[in-house]
Amino acid sequence: MKRRTFLLGTASGFSVLALAACVSPAPVPTASPAPTTLTPSLVPQPLAVSRTNWSTDPFSRGSFSYAAVGATPEHRVALGQAVDARVFFAGEATAVDAPGTVQGARASGLLAAGRVQDVAAPGERITIVGAGIAGITAARQLVNAGYDVVVVEARDRIGGRIDTVSSDWPFPIERGPSFVHRTSDNFLDDELTTLGVSLLPFVRTPEVRTRAGAVVEVSTLGAEAVAGALDWAADQQQDVSVERALIDSGEAKLSSTPNADGLSDSDWLEYEIATKLKVETGATPSQQSAWYTTDMGSADDDQIVIGGYSTLLKSDADGLELLLSSVVNRVAHDDGGVSLRLGTGESLSADRVILTVPLGVLQTAAIEFSPALPFAHRGAIAALGMGVLDKVWLRFDEPFWDTEARLWTIVGEDADFPVWVNMMPLTGEPILMGVVAAENATRLSELDDDEFLSAALTALEPFLAVPDAAVSDE
Ligand SMILES: Cc1cc2nc3c(=O)[nH]c(=O)nc-3n(C[C@H](O)[C@H](O)[C@H](O)COP(=O)(O)OP(=O)(O)OC[C@H]3O[C@@H](n4cnc5c(N)ncnc54)[C@H](O)[C@@H]3O)c2cc1C
Repeated sequence: MKRRTFLLGTASGFSVLALAACVSPAPVPTASPAPTTLTPSLVPQPLAVSRTNWSTDPFSRGSFSYAAVGATPEHRVALGQAVDARVFFAGEATAVDAPGTVQGARASGLLAAGRVQDVAAPGERITIVGAGIAGITAARQLVNAGYDVVVVEARDRIGGRIDTVSSDWPFPIERGPSFVHRTSDNFLDDELTTLGVSLLPFVRTPEVRTRAGAVVEVSTLGAEAVAGALDWAADQQQDVSVERALIDSGEAKLSSTPNADGLSDSDWLEYEIATKLKVETGATPSQQSAWYTTDMGSADDDQIVIGGYSTLLKSDADGLELLLSSVVNRVAHDDGGVSLRLGTGESLSADRVILTVPLGVLQTAAIEFSPALPFAHRGAIAALGMGVLDKVWLRFDEPFWDTEARLWTIVGEDADFPVWVNMMPLTGEPILMGVVAAENATRLSELDDDEFLSAALTALEPFLAVPDAAVSDE
């Protein structure tokens, strides 16, 4: 049984939970090798599976940006600066407000389009690289303003990380974003509703189960420890990782003595890390900045999109000049304009370009810049982090669970899939969506589909309905 893989992710081998051992002995962490032989799970085989692998996707190289230790909002500002009024940048990583979200990406597209309009003469040719929400939003604004716009996209579809799959599923499933976060701060929910896309309120009160399947009351100990550590970090001279803040503030000193449910205080810290910190950033606490770790993920006014997030792009994309399946691998500019080279060897020229490719793509240097990007841009690309969150969607013949809860979480181990959304009460369909984040997602990204499915089904075992006979025997 895999346990506490969080410990394995720390560079020093010392960890928050190892510190808890100062209070009482903690179990010795053991490595959890990727399964070589598949153990059949008690959970029935699903009828349909859809798995994502955003870290190996060459046009994403991760799921969303996060504030790595030492990164600041100024790095996002720097990344969003135009170079010589020719090369402009947009995309969620450049968003100071709500980075890592759909609304942040869209706002960045509007900002970049506005900056182009400030310097471009009427009718100029503007190329936009990337047909995600940032690129399509910028393109629509510039077309409406009378510019000659072409959008160049590496994939054979628009949407980028907004990746709705409608065929073969009873309702459109989302392989990228599912939620509109903080609907009181933006109008995305209203726009989707106007477009005929259904959304449902999603209050994130989870049902929490132990690995043995016992339903337990969520403890606030872990959340309090993280909040205390971040408060402590805010008073320090320099940024440290969330992990270091937990240790040095003393907030990680939680008992590891199990109670009657087999859970200790330190299990609740691990729970907070697994179900919140890692899921919201795609990064381990040893990677995350204690100063700038945001809490964009969960809010009481979140809504879950049921009817197809990608609908948001369709009307803006309507009538745009799109070059799909076209990978840009070189961007050169001078006083006269911009030249883009495609993977096919062809070139495109424009007066100006807006690059909306994800931070992960910029970090792999898949695009060559001539001249090289200014130091401030390179510094920002290196400083910001690209987190990993992957999803698995499973459709079953019938529910094997008997809980009505929409949100399922697991406490007591660093489960590969610590968070599940039960679509049954939302849609009437026996469909589950699980998420795996940070180093667990990176490890699972290397598994083949059978191994990946096996890991997902094993993670679901705590939610197996208890047979009636077992209940009456108690
Ligand atoms: C699993 C997952 C879950 C998420 N959950 C949520 C959520 O619930 N709510 C939320 O608000 N946000 C969520 N997000 C984040 C959200 O999806 C992104 O912030 C947003 O979609 C980013 O939009 P973008 O336009 O900046 O980038 P992208 O959508 O990535 O667009 C960039 C485009 O550039 C293209 N491209 C890349 N390289 C090249 C190249 N060399 N040449 C040409 N084109 C190229 C890509 O193919 C892509 O289409 C999630 C993301 C993931 C992956």
